[in-house]
Amino acid sequence: MSKRTFLLLGSMMLLLLLFLEVTTVAFLKTSQQTGTPQSIERSQYNKKKKGKAKENSMSAESSVKANQAKSTTAKKDEPAQETMKPAYTKSVAITFDDGPNAATTPQLLQILKEKKVHASFFVLGDKIEKHPDITKKAIENGNEIGSHTFDHQDLSKLSVAEITAEITKADEEIRKSIGERPAYVRPPYGSITSEGARIINRPIIEWSVDSQDWKTRNPELIVRQVQETVYDGAIILFHDIYEETVAAIPQIIDYLHSQGYQLLTVGELLDHPTAAENYYGRNDHRPA
Ligand SMILES: [Zn+2]
Repeated sequence: MSKRTFLLLGSMMLLLLLFLEVTTVAFLKTSQQTGTPQSIERSQYNKKKKGKAKENSMSAESSVKANQAKSTTAKKDEPAQETMKPAYTKSVAITFDDGPNAATTPQLLQILKEKKVHASFFVLGDKIEKHPDITKKAIENGNEIGSHTFDHQDLSKLSVAEITAEITKADEEIRKSIGERPAYVRPPYGSITSEGARIINRPIIEWSVDSQDWKTRNPELIVRQVQETVYDGAIILFHDIYEETVAAIPQIIDYLHSQGYQLLTVGELLDHPTAAENYYGRNDHRPA
């Protein structure tokens, strides 16, 4: 081998080595770039982000689905809720005396209708004579009509003949308005003798909670009085001849409902009694 050939081979070898090194470095650089801790972190982050995004889109989707489910359940429940009564645990009867009154009773009837509540009205014969339509409307709306005598006299101070007249004259007016004799009588002032009870000869409806609307004539005080004295099975006394009473009634109904009270007519609360006794509330009746 000549010296020249040796040098040529040597330089070729060097070039080859150089080439190899350059490509190796280049290869290493590329592999390093793709494999740096940052790039790994970034790719993991991106994966996580994608995952999260997927999660988010999934949760968004599932919440949409849940909402759809909710709305379909709500839609399904809507008619059921209308027909299904709320779970009341207690009951009372709200009663209104001394009407009908043209200025206040129709408004009260409208409130009861809107609140889907029935009440008992103990009407006076001489008032019903002037407004038979109001009492008729009360019955049509599902309320109950009882007698409060003809013209609000204290029966305990009347003779047998006078008591009889008070009761029968009221019965006549009520029958003219609603087509039947009232099943119950509430004597004015809750005042009745055993003689009077014998003449009436049907359940005598007293009360156990007095709203004292006749005394306070103040909506706030009427509401408070009921809130402080109401109990399960009570018969509550109001008068539908006062605008303050009518003003208090929506709040009273809402309060009673919020406390789990179902509002019934007297007949419903007492399970339609027939004995001529004094009734003060559910399971609370005494011989007159
Ligand atoms: Zn009265």
